[in-house]
Amino acid sequence: MTEAITNTSAHFQGSGVVSFTTEQLRDVRPGLARIRVDVCALCGSDKRLLASGAAVVPGHEVVGTVVESAPGAPEAGTRVVVFIPVSCGECKACLEHQNNRCYNLEGLMGWQFDGGFAEYMDVPPQCLIPVPDDIPSDVAVLALDTFGTAAHALRLGARTQPVGIQNLLVIGCGPLGLGVISVALAMGIPSVHAWDPNESRLGLAQKLGATAARDLESINQYQVVAEVSGAEPARATAQNLVEPGGAILALGESNDPYVMPATPRWRRTDCFTVRSFYFPPSEVADNWDLLRSHGARLRDTIMTPTRLGDLEETFTRFLDGDFVKPYITHEEN
Ligand SMILES: [Zn+2]
Ligand SMILES: [Zn+2]
Repeated sequence: MTEAITNTSAHFQGSGVVSFTTEQLRDVRPGLARIRVDVCALCGSDKRLLASGAAVVPGHEVVGTVVESAPGAPEAGTRVVVFIPVSCGECKACLEHQNNRCYNLEGLMGWQFDGGFAEYMDVPPQCLIPVPDDIPSDVAVLALDTFGTAAHALRLGARTQPVGIQNLLVIGCGPLGLGVISVALAMGIPSVHAWDPNESRLGLAQKLGATAARDLESINQYQVVAEVSGAEPARATAQNLVEPGGAILALGESNDPYVMPATPRWRRTDCFTVRSFYFPPSEVADNWDLLRSHGARLRDTIMTPTRLGDLEETFTRFLDGDFVKPYITHEEN
């Protein structure tokens, strides 16, 4: 049984307002496990919920420690990351350990189910992935949206190329773009270029080991272009820079539609557009290795620890660009 009797959680009221409640912890619903949240990172996608308001506790990049187990969940005391898709476990995709492709997805933790901007979180057992002992929690959290999503997209991209990815351009050096750069270098992709209109973000990409792209005008330069900004002009640039037979990894999320324009360039370019979602559990073991080689460096370059009670101010600084990848932690440091 858990010793704590109360749980403080954050609630998005809309228009950037965050409120908090502290409630008596109720018994865990049968079938769920309870974790104590150790780390919950802020994600660019949370900004949409911050603006609109959220019906559940947000926060979906979570590392925690199991305090009450359940059938099929790791035992109490195990450190875990939370896999956000709540999958059925029974469909064709789930049986192949491709739960991110579940045909009967119930929803996402932190989106349709209470997430990690809280002290405690109740989680379906299939969403708990144990963390290896040698990987600290502030690195393990990068296994989710940052390394997990990036590695899955690069693996799908590599399948389009006869001998894997030899040169890559990353457009947009926010947390995910910087994750794509780190993963690409960890995978041994020989040439990794980056571009961002923001000089300091581009500087972070260079610090991680990417080369600043010089020429964004000439066509047919890159085998694979990861478009991580979601901005319409960047999507157009990606279409020009990709070489024949190449691939565009369409990772950037915005409210703008993806457009396949009726231009001669678009009509006459033989290429792939790759859209990916999150990552399958079958890739996690390899992703721990990628984190072992490049995770601490990315953490030291982009992450800032903050407290749950400061969440509204932390989001303001995240939106202003003061913080690249802040995360809340309950650990005393
Ligand atoms: Zn996210
Ligand atoms: Zn399924």
